[in-house]
Amino acid sequence: MEEIRETAANALHSIVANSAATMENGDYIGDGGLLYCGKCHTKKERVVTFPAGLMGPEEVKRKVPCVCTCRQAAMEKEKQQEEYREKMARIQRIRDASMMESKYRDARFSSYTVVDQNRKVFQIASKYAANFQQMLKDNQGLIFWGPVGTGKSFTAACIANELLAEQIPVIMTSFVKILQNLQAHPDEAAYISMLNNASLLVLDDLGTERNTDYALEKVYNVIDSRSREAKPMVLTTNLTLSEMLEVEDIRYKRIYDRIFETCLPVEVSGESFRKISAERRFDKMAKFMQEG
Ligand SMILES: [Zn+2]
Repeated sequence: MEEIRETAANALHSIVANSAATMENGDYIGDGGLLYCGKCHTKKERVVTFPAGLMGPEEVKRKVPCVCTCRQAAMEKEKQQEEYREKMARIQRIRDASMMESKYRDARFSSYTVVDQNRKVFQIASKYAANFQQMLKDNQGLIFWGPVGTGKSFTAACIANELLAEQIPVIMTSFVKILQNLQAHPDEAAYISMLNNASLLVLDDLGTERNTDYALEKVYNVIDSRSREAKPMVLTTNLTLSEMLEVEDIRYKRIYDRIFETCLPVEVSGESFRKISAERRFDKMAKFMQEG
């Protein structure tokens, strides 16, 4: 027992002896014979009292280094910079995994040109992004529909980039690309599960994919599995709302039915989306989106 105590005391002695504060330019010995920082004039040393029995039979007082105020501040700053670098690296990794085309990488609400015609769309999209955690919880999606060249894809990309900046995993792709990828990676289940890892899946340009049974089957599988996972989607399409709601071809009907179970249609041309049927679940969402 005595031996152990002696070994521990020796170890403590050598730790204390080896941990002397370093004297740098401008440092000086001040009150109590302690080392002071020449820059911030606070202590770089303090006295520690080791109770009797710890370093020897008697109480022992020793000077040990401590962190002066300016060093403390510098360490805090370094830590913050390191955290910032890590955060940026994480965002970059999530961005790299987003599959987003380079032309949409810089799409941001801050650079959105808001005019009368797109004000409502801008409000809905930015509100969707700002409330994404709620949208995710409710499995609430959007489908931007309207003619070519109205900024639907840009708007969807703004939502995606807003979330990516918040380190929320988003994938933005299209069925045209998904079908190409599925040909290269025949493991459909693995590919779809990769898509479903994203908190938000943005599917650009619905309706431009091939209309073969094979292609439409894959489109349905992606959307259906997303619904089953209860994870939201944002889609864009040049199709009109009635083209989607009144379609008779069963291959399309089951795709659109699935989409409208969770996605609020937003017309991109300025008209209200309120004109669509109220018996669907749109009303609550529409009300929420139009508030404030
Ligand atoms: Zn200092």
